[in-house]
Formats: sequence, C-alpha cells, structure tokens
Amino acid sequence: MAKSLFEILNEKSIPFIVEKGFYLSLLRQNIVSESDVKCAAAEFDADIAIGIGGDGTFLKAADKIRDKNIPILGVNTGRLGFLTNVSKEEFASAIDALLDNRYVIDERAVLQFYSDDNAQLVNFALNEIAVLKQEGNSMLSLHATVNGEYLATYQSDGLIIATPTGSTAYSMSVGGPLVVPQAKNLILSPIAPHSLNMRPLVIPDDWTVELQVQSRNNAFLVSLDGRSEVFHQTPKLYIKKADFTVKLLKLPTQTFFKTLRNKLMWGIDKRMEE
Ligand code: NAP
Repeated sequence: MAKSLFEILNEKSIPFIVEKGFYLSLLRQNIVSESDVKCAAAEFDADIAIGIGGDGTFLKAADKIRDKNIPILGVNTGRLGFLTNVSKEEFASAIDALLDNRYVIDERAVLQFYSDDNAQLVNFALNEIAVLKQEGNSMLSLHATVNGEYLATYQSDGLIIATPTGSTAYSMSVGGPLVVPQAKNLILSPIAPHSLNMRPLVIPDDWTVELQVQSRNNAFLVSLDGRSEVFHQTPKLYIKKADFTVKLLKLPTQTFFKTLRNKLMWGIDKRMEE
C-alpha cells in the first residue's frame, strides 16, 4: 500500500520523505530501494504528514510531529480508523483536494504530563493519559485535585484523563461520555471504581489535574496513548492541556457525526433493518 501511495505522489510530482523507522522497514522488506525514496532527518519539516494505518498509527504520527504545526492526513488501511479519514481508494482524490485547497483543518487538544520527580520531562498525549495498576496487583488509591481543589480519592484500577479526541477510545470503553472535538473539555473516567457512585466527570480543558497515587506494591503505570511507563514512587503527577494542538486534515464532507454513525454504528437499530 505504501508503494502505491508513493507512486501516486510521484505521478503528481509531490516530493516526500519517509520517517526513518518506516523507511528502514520498507528497505528490509525490499518494498523500496534507496534510490526510490528519501529518509527523513531527525529534524524535518513538511507541509503535511501522512499516516498509513489505523488510529494507533495516527497517534504515533502525532507523537512524532508534536508541536511542529504540520497537519496530518490519516490513510486507513482497514482498521477502525476514527482519526484516519481517507481510505486507500480515496487517497489520490484526497491529494487532489489538498492541492485545490478543498480541505478542513481540525485542531485537536493535546494533553501534557509531568511529575514532581522530573518536572523537566514533559510528555504528550492526543487521546488520553491513563494511570493504571500493574497487571496482577491490587487496585490503586488515586487522590485527585482539580484546579487546586481536592476532588475525591478514586479506589479503582486506574483513572483516564481524556481529551475530546480520546473520548471515543479507552475512555468510551469504561463508560465515559463522547465529546465533540470542538468542546473545550477534559474527561476524568475511572476504571472499575470500587464504589456505587463514581461517575465520569467533565471539566474545562484549562484546569490542571493533580494526582497522588498510592499502590500496595509501590508501583503503577502511566500510559500516554497506550505507551506506558512504570512509576515506582508516589510523586505528584500533573496533567493539563498542552500549549499546541494536533492538526487533523479532513475533507469538507467528513464530519464527527458522520464518523460516529459510520464507525461506531451510532444510533443504529438492528430491529429496523430486519
Ligand atoms: P490498540 O490496543 O491496538 O487499539 C485500540 C483501539 O482503539 C483500536 O481499534 C484503535 O483504532 C482505537 N482507537 C485509538 N484511538 C482512537 C480514537 N481516538 N477514537 C476511536 N478509536 C480509537 O492500541 P493503539 O492502536 O496503539 O491505540 C492506543 C489507544 O488504545 C490508546 O490511546 C487507548 O485509547 C486505546 N486503548 C483502549 C483500550 C480499551 O478500549 N479497553 C485499552 C487500552 C488502550 P484502529 O483500529 O484504527 O487502530
């Protein structure tokens, strides 16, 4: 598929570079040769970035682009593809639409994460930051302070802090609300809370979430869009909106509500189809 997309870009005389890991993998598999494509340098610039895969690939592309301000076009290779709007068959016409300025840039909020341990080491997530118990271990006590005020202590397997983009991902799986991308909110969704009255909570996206985590084995996971790291101590964790956005390239015909209906079968009543 990558090869056929490269051919389309060549036909349209559009110069392109390929991310290093992907480039090396294409060479290893003899899909392209060194003379066919150029490898991107560590510090690269581009007018647009193209992610080929599913939403997972889109998240990785967003992590590589970070605050470079490069809009990303997601080409779906047949997975759920909530963020990846264009199919392989639509790729050539999508490129024509971009060249004709017939596109929309959908700006998506990003979360930033840092801890008391190392305030210099800031990390980013487009979907969510999830604090999770380690597999096989007891549940966590998460003391949450929001916008400077103590909120509650979650006795649970974890807590997800999601952006509107992430509202259709992990947060949705634990009963969190779906939030339109333009809403300026964050969602706090507990994972298996041992309580009859803990519900997902929606807060303004300019509020900071502060977490102090206690776990019996003194270890827990912090997962940023699925990339997880073990924390061994109980430093304070901080989650807030980053000062940049990820720019998702869309064709004007693609809307969030259409994606909800088409990809999540939103409102489909099987009985009406029989
Ligand atoms: P993965 O475990 O391979 O895929 C998780 C699924 O989530 C895939 O079907 C993926 O779509 C979909 N997805 C990712 N972002 C989405 C979004 N914004 N809206 C709707 N669906 C979305 O992991 P991955 O592909 O590397 O993605 C990492 C993400 O997985 C995390 O950010 C987290 O949200 C999600 N996750 C979900 C659960 C759960 O639902 N129980 C548990 C752990 C992590 P594609 O098929 O198009 O890739």
